[in-house]
Amino acid sequence: MSSDCLFCKIIAGEIPSQQVYSDEQVIVFKDIDPKADVHLLLVPREHIISLNQLEEKHDSLIAHCMHLLPKIAKEQGLDNGFRTVINTGAGGGQIVFHLHIHLLGGDGLSGAGFSRAV
Ligand code: AMP
Ligand code: ZN
Repeated sequence: MSSDCLFCKIIAGEIPSQQVYSDEQVIVFKDIDPKADVHLLLVPREHIISLNQLEEKHDSLIAHCMHLLPKIAKEQGLDNGFRTVINTGAGGGQIVFHLHIHLLGGDGLSGAGFSRAV
């Protein structure tokens, strides 16, 4: 845990969130400023700053995240598909420096998908 990290505080329960899934490795909660009907954040419990800090020891965690995404999308009723976004570093639009995957779907997504900041 990083004491000055917003998502670590959410994981620790110090800041409330609208959680939709949780296990020993990750939590998933609703984005506070949704850019689509469904806008969730899948967040590893470990404080990893961004993709730039990933190491081989995280391989099983990352595989776990990838497998979870379609399951959670299905639970959310996103039968027609969904979008995932990972912002990396300030230049990539990252605001919260604790690795997270945006899961978006439903109304509010534009066609090609790269015109809007998430
Ligand atoms: P990023 O730009 O990829 O770092 O995205 C950070 C995301 O965290 C943004 O979409 C914010 O709306 C979202 N966010 C910020 N604070 C909270 C919070 N307290 N609860 C849920 N989502 C948040
Ligand atoms: Zn953190």
